[in-house]
Amino acid sequence: MNNPITAVLEPVIYSEVSAQFVKTYEAKKLSDKSGADWDDKTNPLLVELKREIKKHYLKAQNYTCAYCQQKIVVDHNGAWDTEHIAPRDSYPSFMFVPENLCVSCKDCNGAKSNKTVLANRNRRSFPRHSKDYTICHPHFDTYSKHIRVIGEAVLYLPRTKKGQALIEMCGLLRFVYGFADYEIADLNFGSKVIALGTELQNAQSAFEQIAIAQILRTMLDEGLRGAALKQLKQLEL
Ligand SMILES: [Zn+2]
Repeated sequence: MNNPITAVLEPVIYSEVSAQFVKTYEAKKLSDKSGADWDDKTNPLLVELKREIKKHYLKAQNYTCAYCQQKIVVDHNGAWDTEHIAPRDSYPSFMFVPENLCVSCKDCNGAKSNKTVLANRNRRSFPRHSKDYTICHPHFDTYSKHIRVIGEAVLYLPRTKKGQALIEMCGLLRFVYGFADYEIADLNFGSKVIALGTELQNAQSAFEQIAIAQILRTMLDEGLRGAALKQLKQLEL
């Protein structure tokens, strides 16, 4: 949770060879493009282009997921997905647009999947404004204006509708549901509840108060369920 992205992301600048590849691809008819083109492992130009993209965004994002802001300091491909913000299956024409690219963790990418992020789903040209997107966008929005991350408890509070949409789309509540695995007596659990209680006390608006209270309720429910399950298991033994 260190060094969250506060500035808007710097787009990748392609090498000459990659830029030429992209130009050729983008000149193709829409009917000749498909999201699966990305997965062609036989073309060394594409392999190199994808390597450039991932390398750039890992550095530009400081090894921090664009959606959940978790930091994973590893280079190997297993930990990171190159992410098409407007999904490549729905919008193959935007596949190599630098502002449609970033890196995300596997969990966020998996949760987001092919869900639509465009205000107008039928866009043909690449949308370049914040208002064109339903979620807070890694290139066109400042994350902290839309989502407040409570680092101590790893909780995500929406500040705007776009923030709320991103929390739902990327399943960021999974960090709360994760508490189901803890016992209620777990010290970690208690400190998280207290941290959240303090946030509730310091809520800056009625909206924020409701959002925190809802997360707190979920967390307590899940914690109690976890503890109850554990007791049940002990009885069965
Ligand atoms: Zn993530």
